Amino acid sequence: MPTSAPFIDTEATIHFEPSPRAVCSHTDQIQSVQPSAQGCEECLKAGQAWVHLRMCVVCGHVGCCDSSRGKHATKHFHETDHAVMRSVEPGERWGWCYIDKVQL
Ligand SMILES: [Zn+2]
Ligand SMILES: [Zn+2]
Ligand SMILES: [Zn+2]
Repeated sequence: MPTSAPFIDTEATIHFEPSPRAVCSHTDQIQSVQPSAQGCEECLKAGQAWVHLRMCVVCGHVGCCDSSRGKHATKHFHETDHAVMRSVEPGERWGWCYIDKVQL
């Protein structure tokens, strides 16, 4: 599969289960969500490449990581105050709270 191929299933409903050991007061924001796009929403519109994909577990917005030019996942947090995202890279299950700066 070429690396530029979209690989996120936007029909799938994803529910993120945070680690019970994580110290985060924002886990009540977490919803069952459908990914907003097959790749970073903003990068797809701009025709720009990304490095890794992250998904907001509050609304399903798909954005790119901080190693990407756009840093759209972090921008989404600043625009919406949606504090918790997770990796949607194949095989990765970890989440991150932008406010508590802890892995979930
Ligand atoms: Zn938190
Ligand atoms: Zn992006
Ligand atoms: Zn969101």
